[in-house]
Amino acid sequence: MREDPCTRCGACCAAFRVDFHRSELASATPGGVPDALTVPVTATLVRMRGTDAAPARCVALAGEIGRSVRCTIYAGRPSPCQEFAPYAPLGIGDDACARARRRQGLAPL
Ligand code: SF4
Ligand code: SF4
Repeated sequence: MREDPCTRCGACCAAFRVDFHRSELASATPGGVPDALTVPVTATLVRMRGTDAAPARCVALAGEIGRSVRCTIYAGRPSPCQEFAPYAPLGIGDDACARARRRQGLAPL
């Protein structure tokens, strides 16, 4: 079976702000995103901690970008992450995926 290229990348977790509705938080939905890993943005929106830092890096990302990475909340990751480049694990990227990879010096999928 072909290896999932995302497990050796992680560039998108260190490129974009990850904002989502409070209803996805663990305090609102069992199995949701741990509240402590987020910061408030508006009354209804929260952001993954670290994704608006410079340089950006989501606090939930473990490992070394471009080598070996893992989302530590993968099963309960927020919707923007679930929807991002859905075919990348199959080796088919899109524009946003390519942009994130380029910033890390990685070639597009
Ligand atoms: S979706 Fe693209 S940028 Fe994100 S981890 Fe996978 S290959 Fe890397
Ligand atoms: S929650 Fe997981 S998939 Fe989403 S940006 Fe953070 S490390 Fe990446």
